[in-house]
Amino acid sequence: MSFTKLGLCQPITDAVSSLGYTSPTRIQQQAIPVALDGKNLIAAAQTGTGKTASFVLPILEALRHGETKKKKRARALILVPTRELAIQVDSSIRQYAQNLALKSMVMYGGVSYEEQKKALIEGADIIVATPGRLLDLYGQRAVYFEEMEYLVLDEADRMLDLGFIEDINKILSRLPENIQTLLFSATLSNPVRELARTAVPDPVEISITKHSASKKEIAQWLVTVDKDQKSALLSHILSEERWSQALIFIETKHGAAKLVSQLEKRGIHADAIHGGRSQAAREAVLNQFKAGELKYLIATGVAARGIDIEGLPCVINYDLPFPADEYVHRIGRTGRAGAQGEAVSLVSKDNFKNLCMIESRLGHLLERRVIEGFEPKKPVPISILNYKPKARREQNDGQDNGEASNSAPRRERASDRGPKRDGDKPRRNAPFSDAPKDSEKRRSPRKPRTQDSRSSSRPKNAGRKPRSAE
Ligand code: AMP
Repeated sequence: MSFTKLGLCQPITDAVSSLGYTSPTRIQQQAIPVALDGKNLIAAAQTGTGKTASFVLPILEALRHGETKKKKRARALILVPTRELAIQVDSSIRQYAQNLALKSMVMYGGVSYEEQKKALIEGADIIVATPGRLLDLYGQRAVYFEEMEYLVLDEADRMLDLGFIEDINKILSRLPENIQTLLFSATLSNPVRELARTAVPDPVEISITKHSASKKEIAQWLVTVDKDQKSALLSHILSEERWSQALIFIETKHGAAKLVSQLEKRGIHADAIHGGRSQAAREAVLNQFKAGELKYLIATGVAARGIDIEGLPCVINYDLPFPADEYVHRIGRTGRAGAQGEAVSLVSKDNFKNLCMIESRLGHLLERRVIEGFEPKKPVPISILNYKPKARREQNDGQDNGEASNSAPRRERASDRGPKRDGDKPRRNAPFSDAPKDSEKRRSPRKPRTQDSRSSSRPKNAGRKPRSAE
């Protein structure tokens, strides 16, 4: 499917293709038509699934038909739990709106009011805000809501966890009636549904569950690091995390042997199985690991094939595997039979394409961590979902997962082995009494918006009555 088929105009589809997006993600395919149709929406979707574009693109499509009439007003409000997310969403909007004459501004606490007030006076179409700061500015009459047509509650579960419910309710009660509301949340828990009951009347409900490749029992995260710092970082993580055992995957047999001695120098005992060791030595090491006598086992992907360790708490990808399916197999060694497991990957800039392929395979981004003292000098860019590898890589993929590209170290192949073997804090009691109330009505309960109640800036198809989920 293409973005054009979703009913988005060329300036928007050009913008997304300039960002390397070739087709909409699952949440975009489902949410964009609903939002373009003027319906309210509640969507269960994790960060990393492309959810930002799934609400920003239809809002841009609708807003481009009109303009914000007065200063200190905007036509779309996106409420987010944290300043970091506010900045991220605002920067996505700027990218998606690069070919449109629409302006977005960001509002969060902990910084001076002046710049945000100035941006409101200069005029904005979309406000991305944390609830507390928005209420502050509303109380100071720096922002008015009567031109608002769209409301997004992004990461609603997190906003509730952070205690923003009172602030959200105050904002909701001041917004115009019949605003179109889109709620996104990682989970549709009871408190989120409770919020949705008053905030999002008659919604269409969609749920994008994680790809089955990502089991919820496995906590997956990655650490970005420069390549030459990986062994020091691994020692650090092993000492900090104190897993009872960890299976550490590495690409080459030479790398495996070297890593054992690098860890040893830092006082961590590990052993390795790889094609350079005899069958008997490998079996002995594996038995020690299975019996819990060895804490850390370093293994090449080939040598570790078929290894099944009961209750293994952690799998570490010292090197990212290729192709992406190999990642799914590797992490599946932990989190078995309902037990919780962790899968950690050390990722340097030269692993970027590999990472894109893995995250595209999973259908979501992996949580990223940077560890103090190991901040990469060469940052790893944020992945593109739906990443399509170049033909040359696909060919390599087809040969054998042991074939590396020219720049990567030569991976161990099955033939290298010996004999064959299986192998902004929420504001409480925020001063609100000074907030203007004249131009806004209370909106409880809210009615679905009709075409008549909308401004002339709405797209033709955007005024239909919201329909409940089927
Ligand atoms: P989000 O879930 O909105 O935080 O998006 C996660 C990442 O996916 C961001 O880096 C986006 O740039 C990227 N992304 C969003 N939509 C697409 C798409 N259709 N194709 C490729 N990448 C996308």
